[in-house]
Amino acid sequence: MTSAPTEFALDLHDVEKIYGSGKRRVEALRGVSLQVYPGEVFGLLGPNGAGKSTLVKILMTVVHPTRGSGTVLGRPIGAKSTLAHVGYLPEHHRFPRYLTGRQMLEFFGALCGVPRATRKSKSAELLETVGMSQWGDRRVDSYSKGMLQRVGLAQALMNDPHLIVLDEPTDGVDPIGRKDILAVLKRLRDQGKTVFVNSHLLGELELISDRVAIMVRGQVVRQGTIDELTANRQWYEVDITAESAAPVPELLHISDDHPAQETRKGQLADGIWLQVQTRPEGTTVRLGTADPSRIQPTLDSLRQAHCIIRRIQAVRPSLQDLFMEAVTDPATHRPTGVGGVSPDVPPLPEVRP
Ligand code: ADP
Repeated sequence: MTSAPTEFALDLHDVEKIYGSGKRRVEALRGVSLQVYPGEVFGLLGPNGAGKSTLVKILMTVVHPTRGSGTVLGRPIGAKSTLAHVGYLPEHHRFPRYLTGRQMLEFFGALCGVPRATRKSKSAELLETVGMSQWGDRRVDSYSKGMLQRVGLAQALMNDPHLIVLDEPTDGVDPIGRKDILAVLKRLRDQGKTVFVNSHLLGELELISDRVAIMVRGQVVRQGTIDELTANRQWYEVDITAESAAPVPELLHISDDHPAQETRKGQLADGIWLQVQTRPEGTTVRLGTADPSRIQPTLDSLRQAHCIIRRIQAVRPSLQDLFMEAVTDPATHRPTGVGGVSPDVPPLPEVRP
């Protein structure tokens, strides 16, 4: 593993993990490189068996990589001293069930070297943070799954970490609890902490992540901000009321061979793709650009023809769309499957409305 200083909170290069050998050989990670900036929420997503937990376990030194290099908080992966600055919520945690939530937090505080004098006040503060103050003196074995996740998050924060690694933090948590947990993660980011979160709940990741990586069969197939991942694939939608009498396709000079179809396709003079969908309740014009200045001439044409514009909206593919693309074989349109071993992940298709 390299030891060069780095500006990244996490910086991984070509990490590989092979479990077993012979017929039992599983290539869980096949050359994973990813970078996480300090002070961001980074979301890792992928189908079952993609290698997410293996990657998290490597970061936490629970599992040794077969090959690869990288740093965590500027120190080589595996440096035990770094772990004092990392908080970790494993996917399948087992907290001592005979302790109360408060005792459990104090116990984990002791394990990670929090001074005795501050353990009590820190655990009270964190129980409050995760909405568990009233339950702090009940035994862990009386907690629901959602309550376990809440105290689990508190546990990961006992050592006031710079980097927080969370494996499925909202698993089994009700909608209120999820909202609370996401709010805590945002607050941590606002305090300058780095949050690395592994989840299959795409809507949640989309809400909180500054950047994401999509893993499929042991490889990172996409990485970046959602804006970066959807660059050149955004469009504008313009809704026109049904009362607008002007025939919009003709107005926008669409001259395809299918005048009777509900959706007609064309291109503007500057190369922007164009779709006009005509329904009884109104017409929707879609313009293939993310640049608002480039839709103005079309809006001018529509207004000059007395079309009544009801709504204009910038649209981009969702994280769900990106994810489905990443796990879909473009040749067969079927999911590429789960698990660690596979031939190379095929190239990804373009998405259009
Ligand atoms: P994810 O967290 O994305 O669901 P995992 O990292 O748990 O994926 O698993 C990745 C692949 O590695 C899977 O094919 C899984 O069966 C395999 N795997 C995980 N842990 C082990 C292990 N301890 N021994 C053998 N194979 C494993």
